[in-house]
Amino acid sequence: MREPRFDVLFEPVPIGPVTARNRFFQVPHCNGMGHAHPTAHAVMRGVKAEGGWAVVCTEEVEIHHSTDVAPYVEGRIWDDADIPAHARLVEQVHEHGGLAGIELVHSGFMGANLYVRRPPLGPADLPVPGTHPVQARRMSARDIADLRRWHRQAVARSLRAGYDLVYVYAGHGLTTIQHFLSRRYNDRGDEYGGSLENRARLLREILEETLEEISGQAAVACRICVDELVGEQGLERAEIEEVLGLVGELPDLWDFMVGDWDFDSVTARFADEGAQESYVRGLKQLTSKPVVGVGRFTSPDTMVRMVEDGVLDMIGAARPSIADPFLPRKIEEGRLEEIRECIGCNICVTCDTTATPVRCTQNPTMGEEWRRGWHPERIPPKTTDAKVLVVGGGPAGLEAAQALGKRGYEVVLAEASDALGGRVAREARLPGLASWIRVLDYRKGQLDRLPNVEIALGSPLDATEILSYDFDHVALATGSRWRRDGVGRWHVRPLELAGVELLTPDDLMDGVRPAGERVVLYDDDHYYMGGVLAEQLAREGRSVTLVTPEARVSEWTVNTMEQHRIQRRLLELHVDVLASHALVSAGEGAARAACVYTERERELPCDALVVVTSRLPVDELADELDTSRGGAAGPAIRLVGDAWSPGTIAAAVWDGHRYARELDEPRSEDEPSFLREVVELAPLRRSSP
Ligand code: ADP
Ligand code: SF4
Repeated sequence: MREPRFDVLFEPVPIGPVTARNRFFQVPHCNGMGHAHPTAHAVMRGVKAEGGWAVVCTEEVEIHHSTDVAPYVEGRIWDDADIPAHARLVEQVHEHGGLAGIELVHSGFMGANLYVRRPPLGPADLPVPGTHPVQARRMSARDIADLRRWHRQAVARSLRAGYDLVYVYAGHGLTTIQHFLSRRYNDRGDEYGGSLENRARLLREILEETLEEISGQAAVACRICVDELVGEQGLERAEIEEVLGLVGELPDLWDFMVGDWDFDSVTARFADEGAQESYVRGLKQLTSKPVVGVGRFTSPDTMVRMVEDGVLDMIGAARPSIADPFLPRKIEEGRLEEIRECIGCNICVTCDTTATPVRCTQNPTMGEEWRRGWHPERIPPKTTDAKVLVVGGGPAGLEAAQALGKRGYEVVLAEASDALGGRVAREARLPGLASWIRVLDYRKGQLDRLPNVEIALGSPLDATEILSYDFDHVALATGSRWRRDGVGRWHVRPLELAGVELLTPDDLMDGVRPAGERVVLYDDDHYYMGGVLAEQLAREGRSVTLVTPEARVSEWTVNTMEQHRIQRRLLELHVDVLASHALVSAGEGAARAACVYTERERELPCDALVVVTSRLPVDELADELDTSRGGAAGPAIRLVGDAWSPGTIAAAVWDGHRYARELDEPRSEDEPSFLREVVELAPLRRSSP
């Protein structure tokens, strides 16, 4: 059972008319499913409640068709047609004893309204963020009255769907209520602009009207940005303290958040657990209402400290609840070593920009709860007495071995090197990526308790050896290696790169260092590796030029909300960035790069060239096994993870998990192996003559 010092986390918390069974609060978070995949969404939230979260919330839910964040997939409660999907979510959460919360949003000029095709609304005439050629229209008194009425209608629909808690949302820079509150956007001269009291008028009115509409049938939460992190241009602590003086006693709960989403969900590379604490500390003392806040909390001791120090009443979590939907239950049952700790990589966040169902590096079942029937803590027992050999102890092999072990199969995990972890063991040693070792830690912890899984380190296996054993299945999770020929996105044929010291990420991770001082790093991969190696080399005192065909360094990390931080860090470390250029050749003492538009070339003097372009699967064993056994019967062989197709760590873990789930199942790719919801056709109607 749990240790008494964690008892405080399991005290019930009254929130207005409802009571949370403990202090664990899954704050609203995007999931890429929302209105597009409602049942998958509902079941995912239900699993969180089953895992012990007292309150489980939706993502932001658009209150009205004047606010549309397409192509991002969020929730909608535009009219009654949206209610059944919400009712299903509420039902799932209630079934597992949780309270269901809905975060209502009017996105204002943060949504370009690309689907509904009407101008967004805002406190001022301002273009929408990004580059869409769309501007928000300054709201008139009538627009404000409309907005208040629409919010109220959405509250009524939320009640009909059965929600226990309804949010008034003024956070992340994403909502009209915050846009009115902040000097950053509000330049109005009417009673909604100017003084803080005026700017807070819309917040107060909507809080009052929400309370009135709800009339004690549910709790009202308010999520507010307590510092926009833009200095006196925007909301700062002193103003928020004043806001609490004005409306601090109105809602039943305060949800304090800091900055925009990229600070609220900052990656582990740029901030540690609890990064928000200094901004939130002391605000709880300005209201009698319970307070929730986040901090990528995975350590129960930190959670206890937050409560005992009077910083928070409830432990808010989005990412930790994605990585481990059963986090509260594991603490409650004293199973701390079983917690699957979030690594802070923000692969989950990419669901938003890519408008696809949420995925997670640590939790391969995330987003698959309904679609594939995968539960994060339960896995069906084995169906045969098959023996399985897993070759390779990286993320894919570790996940396959532990999941197969839990199913009850007899498993041998053979790893060539003397340590488990594969790429995570290597990458976690790069600057800022230490927490990625948790991918190994969790799985190693699980494997240690499985007597039916044998781990053989220092075991580089070849085909003859594998076939000499008596396994029914062999998973080849042998990983991938970085190419050294320049082939990637820009060049699909090898480059001539002789004459210069040539290094790949594998070489650098093996500890090889360039002999000279001047390094050109060519990044045609665009995720973290190029940027992180440039950072490492610069920190070690080398003079680094990063060349990329993209316009910015580590371009794909816009999806993990890190791009601007990475670029800033590299520039601060005096890395020269040559954007929109592709490497074309290299030789003694120099590399040549060409502008991707004009093909104009320039010479870059260097002592070494690092190429970060793409990877090749380490899959030779599969062919060798085929050849060695000829036509003879033998084990079923599958390539898994990066050996099948090099990708993210999340993809490797997922593939290892899928292998374990589907072992012994007849496998057909002719039809989808997962459930999906197909849009219900509406009646046709004639166009006007
Ligand atoms: P993934 O991300 O797919 O798990 P990794 O590259 O992280 O891939 O891990 C692959 C692991 O497989 C490495 O630890 C590597 O040492 C191991 N490995 C590769 N070939 C063999 C082999 N023939 N026998 C045993 N282990 C191997
Ligand atoms: Fe944490 Fe990464 Fe999973 Fe997101 S994807 S919950 S950041 S481990």
